[in-house]
Amino acid sequence: MLSVNHISKTYPGEDLGAVNNVSFELNANEILTIVGRSGSGKSTLLQIIGGLMKPDSGEIVFHGKALENPEEQLVAGHPKIKMVFQDYKVKIGMTVEENIKYMLLNYNNAYKQERTDELLTITGLEPYRSRKTNELSGGQLQRLSIARALADEPELLLMDEPFSNLDPITKENLIMALREIIKNEKVSIVFVTHDTRDALMVSDRLIYMREGSLIQEGTVSEMYDQPINEEVASFFGRINSLESITGNKQYIRAEDMRMDIDNPDSTEMIVENCFSLGRVFLLTLSHNSRFEYYIYSERQQKVGQVVSVSYDKNRILHFS
Ligand code: ADP
Ligand code: MG
Repeated sequence: MLSVNHISKTYPGEDLGAVNNVSFELNANEILTIVGRSGSGKSTLLQIIGGLMKPDSGEIVFHGKALENPEEQLVAGHPKIKMVFQDYKVKIGMTVEENIKYMLLNYNNAYKQERTDELLTITGLEPYRSRKTNELSGGQLQRLSIARALADEPELLLMDEPFSNLDPITKENLIMALREIIKNEKVSIVFVTHDTRDALMVSDRLIYMREGSLIQEGTVSEMYDQPINEEVASFFGRINSLESITGNKQYIRAEDMRMDIDNPDSTEMIVENCFSLGRVFLLTLSHNSRFEYYIYSERQQKVGQVVSVSYDKNRILHFS
């Protein structure tokens, strides 16, 4: 439904491009996540996709038609493309229900009510329909922003770090709600985040950006199990260099190493630190007093203790 074709953008007066020749495709009913560190060009790219900023070169093709320049339009953007930001876009002083109806001004009352009820259900705001915006929590306000963005049945929702102001539990609930919304509404989502956990939970496909360039594109398991380089690998979870064991520049995920006394191939290491993660513990280990490893342990370990560590050879990461 959407083709991003060779998009480049350099801000006036800057030497380095904010977005450099980025291309990808988005399918209908798909959640695609753009990840990368702060400053990698995610927001710039999203503004361009939303038709709010003109690229220096390249084009955005939506349903086979190139998006028009923001300068050539009365209202920038495409009516079927809506954006959701970290800041809530709600009407202060109105109730939740009024806020949604406000987005449906062009429809008759029967449809307006029907669609509002539907959106209240989808976003879990039904119990709060009569509340004013100042009586809502951050999570509820963000649900309302999403309901408002969905009101006019957009085909594409662009979300720029929409949950970064929310506490972890509220955030997780909203991420699960997003997957439900995708099932119920005929909408595709481009989701921007710098949070690994959000990205892994919500995405069908992912794009990793670095300094304006697309470094890797793939499904969740492709990005996780076949990362293209050390940077992408470590974005999606802790990795260990096996160099002090194998003598080669090989990497493996922390969760693919374990404490294993009976294994003749195991390596002795010293526990440097033990951090509780609730049910499991994250250990930092030293090998030959120089090399540092991370592993997860089901049991708490004493600092200074010697442990035997082995790894799953099939899980060694191969960078291209
Ligand atoms: P991200 O959303 O991944 O953090 P941005 O798209 O906001 O990245 O920024 C990409 C690069 O462009 C950064 O180097 C940033 O400093 C620069 N940048 C962003 N907005 C502007 C602007 N309005 N003027 C000049 N440079 C900008
Ligand atoms: Mg940003």
